[in-house]
Amino acid sequence: MEAFQGTLNWTVDSILFKVPWYTNYFWGLITISLVVWLLEIAFPWRKNQSIIRKDFWLDGFYMFFNFFIFSIIISGVYKVLRIFFSEIGLSNKSFAIFDISHWSMWLQLLVFFIVLDFVQWLTHVLLHKFEFLWRFHKVHHSVKEMGFAAHLRYHWMENIFYKPLKTFGVMILGGFEPEQAYIVHFIAISIGHLNHANIRITWGPLKYIFNNSVMHLYHHVKVLPEGKPQGINFGISLSIWDYIFKTNYVPEDSGKIELGFPGEDTFPKSFIGQLFTGFRKEKQN
Ligand SMILES: [Zn+2]
Ligand SMILES: [Zn+2]
Repeated sequence: MEAFQGTLNWTVDSILFKVPWYTNYFWGLITISLVVWLLEIAFPWRKNQSIIRKDFWLDGFYMFFNFFIFSIIISGVYKVLRIFFSEIGLSNKSFAIFDISHWSMWLQLLVFFIVLDFVQWLTHVLLHKFEFLWRFHKVHHSVKEMGFAAHLRYHWMENIFYKPLKTFGVMILGGFEPEQAYIVHFIAISIGHLNHANIRITWGPLKYIFNNSVMHLYHHVKVLPEGKPQGINFGISLSIWDYIFKTNYVPEDSGKIELGFPGEDTFPKSFIGQLFTGFRKEKQN
């Protein structure tokens, strides 16, 4: 219970500006969202898309729901698990492959960013590959009009799916997050927002390294290209994994493709409906 209390207090303190500004994810998320939204308004890719697009408020709600309510519960659960594992003699350091603790700060952060991004890419591939995971991931793919806030429209169960590999990634790096990990988290949030924004971004030749809105829009395409039934462009912050594993697909950049997934008509449109749908197995038809 103490574990939950600790994270809850931290979240409340964040809202009240009682934590160092650079670790304040609450106001950080709001600031990044406003900046990206202003960029969308100033430089729209799909010019006929409304500023308050379809499901804007639904996604805004998801943003706070996912980021805060469940970060409280989930980090609490993991603190409890950590206590359990340490009681049976396993620690964060049991699986360490590298000891990055004496590397320079920027190198630590870079390696941390790359490893964490790769394990998330892998998790994302699995979310598309296995039907019981896809049932939950469909919430994210139910977006019909793309904008920055769609970044955080996802079922809270995804936090649970992502966590084991993320924890494993941290473990092989010696079981600790670099002290300045917040820099990596803020960069990841910013890239994620831009990937979903109604702004045409390709990063030029850097597109082979960094994920971007043109590439990620195709990840959301309703009808997948032939020969790629499991999905395309799984990248989170980096696109390089898709180029290495040949899951990349960006034929053009008009931004005018239909988004969603086949059979979406029967998918719930409301938050409450989407909250429960993943727990039910669909009838096969
Ligand atoms: Zn996906
Ligand atoms: Zn997305």
